[in-house]
Amino acid sequence: MEVGYIYDPIFTEHRTGDHIENENRVITVHEVARHFPLLPLPIRKATKEELSLIHNPRYIEWVQHAYEEGYRFILNEDTLLSERSFEVARYAAGSTASVIDSFKRGEIGRAFLNIRPPGHHAERESGQGFCIFNNIALMARYAQNQGFEKVMIIDFDVHHGNGTQDIFYDDPTLFFFSTHERNNYPYFSGSEDEIGVGAGTGFNRNRPYGDYCRDDELLQLYDDLPDDFDFDILLVSAGYDLMADEAISTAQITFDGLRELVRRILDFAGEKPTAFLLEGGYNLPSLARSVEITLEELTCYH
Ligand SMILES: [Zn+2]
Repeated sequence: MEVGYIYDPIFTEHRTGDHIENENRVITVHEVARHFPLLPLPIRKATKEELSLIHNPRYIEWVQHAYEEGYRFILNEDTLLSERSFEVARYAAGSTASVIDSFKRGEIGRAFLNIRPPGHHAERESGQGFCIFNNIALMARYAQNQGFEKVMIIDFDVHHGNGTQDIFYDDPTLFFFSTHERNNYPYFSGSEDEIGVGAGTGFNRNRPYGDYCRDDELLQLYDDLPDDFDFDILLVSAGYDLMADEAISTAQITFDGLRELVRRILDFAGEKPTAFLLEGGYNLPSLARSVEITLEELTCYH
């Protein structure tokens, strides 16, 4: 089965200067990915109607005009805006739909999306934490509209996926599982007692870890993946900022540990369509090796 791949130079046009979330990340990942037998998939721009599946239309309108009106960031200088950021963010989110279409046509069994800006901190009402629109949330909703009714999301970025949790918190058709460093951004979400609300109760599972988390400690948390949620598709917020060489956290995950984690996730997926979306990861050599390991595992069907 083929492995789909999304990348386009447009993802370098969200200009953030010296910020750690900059265009060199996707360029670095693309340099690694081009050595693998991946099926390039076309990018496409999310429509405003599609973005409205996951975001308040007022927020979408605000992002569209923010730069023209002189705003250079959302909320604070964590999340920068440049002249083309609205366009680029629409392509990052919309390209997830292109992958779902390819899954649906049976062309691919797995995919890796080398996209930016990242998405998992973007909540329904606002972007934050380097994220403008929530790519994985749009992918999940679009997948559901294409017949993949039950969606499983695993988020292994070192930061809690507060945006994804926010968007699906009352939704029993999507199971959100996140492991992340407890004493790290966004600080006020991600505890174990956040389990969903209303009909969504029990479909949100956070497994935070302490400082200096090691491989065995992280992998053990994955014993808590749900064994009774019969999903149709698995989407992964692949944030590589949990690696030992990343300055943004204290986590001490090794490359062997990451490989084991990716294998655990792929075992969990079984034969079901599985997509990894780039979220964090800022130390470029570490990011390159991490994505290489991920692609080695994705392209190797056991
Ligand atoms: Zn992160």
